[in-house]
Amino acid sequence: MQRTCEVCTATFYIKSSRVAKGKGRFCSLACYKQWREQSKKNPFAFVRHNTKTGCWEWTGGKDKRGYGMTWDGKKWRKSHRVFYEWLVGPISPGLFICHRCDNPSCINPEHLFPGTQKDNMQDAIAKKRFKFPQRQPGESNPMALLTDEQVRYVRSAHDGHRATTGRLARELGVPVYVVHNAVTRRTYRNVV
Ligand SMILES: [Zn+2]
Ligand SMILES: [Zn+2]
Repeated sequence: MQRTCEVCTATFYIKSSRVAKGKGRFCSLACYKQWREQSKKNPFAFVRHNTKTGCWEWTGGKDKRGYGMTWDGKKWRKSHRVFYEWLVGPISPGLFICHRCDNPSCINPEHLFPGTQKDNMQDAIAKKRFKFPQRQPGESNPMALLTDEQVRYVRSAHDGHRATTGRLARELGVPVYVVHNAVTRRTYRNVV
């Protein structure tokens, strides 16, 4: 089947059975390597907010079990652990970082909690009963990191690129992609 390379946008052909296995995103090893380098340089650009579940999904490389793999500055490690350290704080030795949402690629700190092996197993049982809140627009969404007022502020401050999304993110203490998604109106579409 025909595919478009995610890096160079070249068209190439690949067996559909390989696409079903998650292959077929890149036309060549060179493009794959470039994509990997890119995720190393700007990991926050590789996070996508799933507005249905509230999950922040890692869109870069993953391991066989579906855990994202993020470059932490020194080595490749599981994304949810790396982002937990960046967004929340250090993980005590021996502790697992568990997912409330059963989505291994999710790095949303609201969906993560530190636990022991035992907690991890109990959670695996409990989360089968866990129900996600219905999708709610804007700040009424419990997962929202910005108030409607802050959304208006970043949009007007970013308009004409007077302030970078990076600067605004630091100012408000949220990840860069949250600001980026707000200014590009991928999120908070209800805010005018
Ligand atoms: Zn390519
Ligand atoms: Zn999640």
